[in-house]
Amino acid sequence: MTVRRVMGIETEYGISVPGQPTANPMVLSGRVVTAYATQQGMRAARAGWDYEDEAPLRDARGFDLARGAADPSQLTDEEDPTLANVVLTNGARLYVDHAHPEYSSPEVTTPRAAITWDRAGELVMREAVRLLAVPGTPGVNLYKNNTDGKGASYGTHENYLMRRSTPFSEIVRHLIPFFVARQIMCGSGRVGIGTESQRPGFQLAQRSDFFEVEVGLETTLKRPLINTRDEPHAAADRYRRLHVILGDANHADVAGLLKLGTTSLVLGMIEAGAVKDDLTVDKPVEALRRLSHDPTLRATVQVAGRRTMTGLQLLWNYYELADKWLQETYAGELDSDTAEVMLRWEEVLTALERDTMDAARQVDWVAKLRALEAFRDRGGLDWSDPALRAIDIQWSDVRADKGLFNKMSAAGRFERLITDEQAAAAVALPPEDTRAYFRGTCLARFPHEVAAASWDSVIFDVRSQPSLQRVPMLEPERGTKTHVGALLEQADSADELLRLLGTTGRSQS
Ligand code: ATP
Ligand code: MG
Ligand code: MG
Repeated sequence: MTVRRVMGIETEYGISVPGQPTANPMVLSGRVVTAYATQQGMRAARAGWDYEDEAPLRDARGFDLARGAADPSQLTDEEDPTLANVVLTNGARLYVDHAHPEYSSPEVTTPRAAITWDRAGELVMREAVRLLAVPGTPGVNLYKNNTDGKGASYGTHENYLMRRSTPFSEIVRHLIPFFVARQIMCGSGRVGIGTESQRPGFQLAQRSDFFEVEVGLETTLKRPLINTRDEPHAAADRYRRLHVILGDANHADVAGLLKLGTTSLVLGMIEAGAVKDDLTVDKPVEALRRLSHDPTLRATVQVAGRRTMTGLQLLWNYYELADKWLQETYAGELDSDTAEVMLRWEEVLTALERDTMDAARQVDWVAKLRALEAFRDRGGLDWSDPALRAIDIQWSDVRADKGLFNKMSAAGRFERLITDEQAAAAVALPPEDTRAYFRGTCLARFPHEVAAASWDSVIFDVRSQPSLQRVPMLEPERGTKTHVGALLEQADSADELLRLLGTTGRSQS
């Protein structure tokens, strides 16, 4: 049970209206959310979020592909994107953040489930694009990427539940070197070097040029390799939600699985105190960029002030540590999810080492580089050619018939771990083994009685009670199908559910 851990992925999508570069991205993002919510029969403002500290309009900079004024005071009430904030029946949150539509996956417990429910988010966004299409006019397009190549970057955040008792300094110490190197397996590839693509070229990761400090609270300015945000959305004395902001949005299943799976393993070792080696990387922010800028994978970093290693060698070190730790702790009795991650990890590192292009079916940046090189050869194009930047953006278009990744994937060019059917099912249904099950099922069963929902509570407005009834869910691994499935089935109204739960707003589901 080692890669198993409560986790979730937030994905902000790039947004544009071809031919209308000055369209207000916040208004557009609000429309994306509202269109989908309306189709699902929700009133966008209804099943809203209820954090006091939520300020969805903060730091909206005029921006990526759509670069209009993002001034909230210009919005009409109907277009106020702060109202566009809903919870879906799969337990996910769909809202507007930093002037982007964002899908935050429900809490899951395995890397496989994480990529399944993240892919469900792609289908939600694709459906919103379809809903907003007006024949004869340029529609709203959405992109699962992390930069517009002109200076704006938007995040794909991973969230990992950790024990509060693990010292944060240990997390920082052992995770930073891993993060510096992880992009070699998990980067999504990018045309252009520098935040505004000042220099022509190709690099491994979308986000690496946007990081400036090692540790910090910010997520959109002075971005840190390790984010100190401490909102556990769970019992704060027992848990930490580690908020990882430096990863790329992945399309390829194997790269996505490795991103979540290997990180979870490294966290497991940190929690167990099992990382004894000093793999501290000198000047990690600089090292992150240096590795990202070198698709030959020959660039090196200084480790522990004395050894020189390539990024691949650094990753092999973490792989060996994990392998040893698993053998010592579980003596070959690995659960299938952990075994899968270890096998893929070894396979991908081996392929990258043999010939980078051997990982083109598993790793996004490799596939992207290969496609771009073929294009360059055919047209004799230099890396500074704007056509290559256009291809980079088109790669991530969420539409099945326009997105380059999607077209190549349909043609069998990537190794798939998740079927289309599994992703489609995850659009409607929540994971069964976390509190997302309770949240999503309540929304599906009693849409009119759920007044609001957040990660750690569902609030009911039922006829029999004069006040709102809050069902707290401070334990992410409760409220599962095993815990509440029978109860939810038995209840034919929200009133009855609350009676069966024995809640007057205090008990834990
Ligand atoms: P933002 O970074 O956009 O300002 P945020 O990081 O606070 O916001 P949300 O967009 O609301 O958060 O998404 C939270 C993500 O964390 C979801 O994917 C959810 O499944 C996951 N999550 C919620 N609670 C936990 C937890 N206790 N441990 C791990 N993951 C969690
Ligand atoms: Mg978010
Ligand atoms: Mg986040």
